Amino acid sequence: MHAVDTIAAIATAPGSGGIGVVRVSGPLSREIAEGVLGHCPAPRHAAYLPFQDADQALIDQGIAIYYAAPFSYTGEDVLELQAHGGPALMQILLKRCLALGARQAEPGEFTRRAYLNDKIDLAQAEAVADVINAATEAAARSAVRSLSGEFSARIHLLLQQLIDLRLYVEACLDFPEEDIDFISQGRVAEKLATVSSGLDAVFNEARQGNLLREGLQVVLVGQPNVGKSSLMNQLAGEEVAIVTPIAGTTRDTIKNSIQINGIPLHIIDTAGLRETSDEVEQHGIARTWRALENAGVALLLLDAAHGIGEMEKSILDRLPQFLPKIWIHNKIDLDSTSPQIVIDNNDTHIHLSAKTGLGVDLLRQQLLNIAGWQPNGEGVFMARTRHLVALKQVREHLDIAADLLLQPELFAEELRLAQEALNTVTGEFTPDDLLGEIFSRFCIGK
Ligand code: GDP
Ligand code: ZN
Repeated sequence: MHAVDTIAAIATAPGSGGIGVVRVSGPLSREIAEGVLGHCPAPRHAAYLPFQDADQALIDQGIAIYYAAPFSYTGEDVLELQAHGGPALMQILLKRCLALGARQAEPGEFTRRAYLNDKIDLAQAEAVADVINAATEAAARSAVRSLSGEFSARIHLLLQQLIDLRLYVEACLDFPEEDIDFISQGRVAEKLATVSSGLDAVFNEARQGNLLREGLQVVLVGQPNVGKSSLMNQLAGEEVAIVTPIAGTTRDTIKNSIQINGIPLHIIDTAGLRETSDEVEQHGIARTWRALENAGVALLLLDAAHGIGEMEKSILDRLPQFLPKIWIHNKIDLDSTSPQIVIDNNDTHIHLSAKTGLGVDLLRQQLLNIAGWQPNGEGVFMARTRHLVALKQVREHLDIAADLLLQPELFAEELRLAQEALNTVTGEFTPDDLLGEIFSRFCIGK
């Protein structure tokens, strides 16, 4: 047990709700239960009891659940008090717990204790936040998969394979006089290929999950009245409620989020990018141009009847060179032409009608292609960019290792680096653990 003090916090969202929960974790949980409830309920049993102030005045009547360590979320003694979810009442209840010796918890501290007490690993701890903050149903589902440990289990399997391979190679290095053909005997190349393909599979699923989390930044450009707002509404489809301005002042609301197949699209409307002398507006505009640097794709809208003109070309010149672009020839309903997608050199043109929706599916599909989405959403893990970076590092070391089969020392070193990178995902094995692992194996095996 790492923590010594007792923390308390309102666990439910701010504002009023039918039910609100105050959560307490740490060694004083039992005493706090006795103070608030008169006695501590049996562990893991819901007890309907009066919650009382120091002078026995009734704070509220509610449900109390006590969990004895280590069988709780944090692995410590935990008390959960469920009362009516009014903000004032929640404050009174929290203050009562603080008066009984708890300290106000810091953000994420319950989950951090769960991690420190080995209830969950680092990837799972991150998934807790991702479940809570998921913007779409698909993102929530993939975060729950990660939280349940499916992602971690896959990482562990890879770690185990890597460790096995390392143990073998290191053992060969320790006994050079035996001069065994270490490569063919241990089927080293074959085992390395197994780790490699396992890594590819995990990376692919993690990348899909990351897309659900981070989404795709879409820049919408074009002259007034070409149909930018109409197109955005079409893309949003029935999920109208999701067309919400990102918080900020009205003049800053040039960014909206919608979703396609559960993938968030963050749309930056460059309609706000006009010349202005207003200082506040200039700030917003500068920010938008910076946002363009991180964009994933630009949609260049124009009136199908007019074609690409000087205005469009000057906009094009201001966009980052390597940003993927799609020309949208809008309002095809006016001259009754058919929706189509034309790929010409490196340029993609889509003819559609933002008003009738004709051809908008072609655009949806193209956006998913650019995002790199693969339609079978099965087996998607919520992953942080941090995880993807780590998995890429593992891949690099494995690739280098594959070229070093004839140099066992260097080969072993690349495996070690690969393992180190993989370790950072779940935050578990440290080099000390590896030593312990090696030691115990050798005792058992030989
Ligand atoms: P924005 O200024 O670029 O955001 O353009 P809006 O989306 O506000 O559209 C400007 C006008 O063009 C509105 O009257 C829309 O109804 C109309 N409009 C937009 N898209 C289409 C389209 O595909 N066909 C037709 N006929 N009208 C459209
Ligand atoms: Zn508009």
